[in-house]
Amino acid sequence: MIYVVSGPSGCGKSTLIKNLLSRLPGLQFSVSHTTRPRRPNEINGRDYYFVSREKFQEMKEAGAFLEWAVVHNEFYGTSWDEIKQKGNRGDLVLDIDVQGAKQVKKKLEKAVFVFVVPPSYPELEKRLRQRKTDSPEAIALRLKNARREIMEAEIFDYLVINGELEKALDELKSIILSHRCLFKERQKEFKEVLRSFKSWP
Ligand code: ADP
Ligand code: 5GP
Repeated sequence: MIYVVSGPSGCGKSTLIKNLLSRLPGLQFSVSHTTRPRRPNEINGRDYYFVSREKFQEMKEAGAFLEWAVVHNEFYGTSWDEIKQKGNRGDLVLDIDVQGAKQVKKKLEKAVFVFVVPPSYPELEKRLRQRKTDSPEAIALRLKNARREIMEAEIFDYLVINGELEKALDELKSIILSHRCLFKERQKEFKEVLRSFKSWP
């Protein structure tokens, strides 16, 4: 299953996803392509594939992206390669913006959409400032975009309010676990159980 996680920049998506990946076996992260500069703590190929605008444009024109968008003046996109390679091996989580989530909704038959919000606007502002990765201008732009994004939250299936981190993590984990338990997602395992029942004298 593909899990699309969106929400205003600074609400805690990366923190939640990073923690979840270490706690939930069988879940992988879809690494996006971006033209934005790498932050000091980021690793190419782990956090993003950092590419030039020219390379991004080339890939866009070649139809290499499932979805792409301009976010805070930079290009971001999810490549089909990433989806095909990792999607075959289990559950995949995408950390993308609302514009991207809408494109995925149109293009993929099956995906689960999760919106993450901070408990309040001042808390979002505080988190962006404390993260110390963006200039005051970049923070102002992210806050402006947050107001627009939050108005579109209702297109999503689930809402996670990231106040207390552990609670939000439990909620996100529960969303994924409950989808794994859907009858139609467990046909293979159920067949095994059935086989045992049928073969027992
Ligand atoms: P996003 O990926 O949505 O842009 P981050 O995961 O980078 O957001 O989080 C932004 C900042 O907020 C980081 O400094 C992170 O440590 C902090 N943060 C994330 N979740 C919480 C939380 N539940 N409570 C307090 N701070 C948080
Ligand atoms: P950041 O620069 O803080 O890592 O991410 C900024 C925003 O870009 C976040 O809202 C994040 O979800 C979004 N984003 C990251 N990767 C992608 C992507 O591949 N596609 C789209 N549409 N948005 C992305």
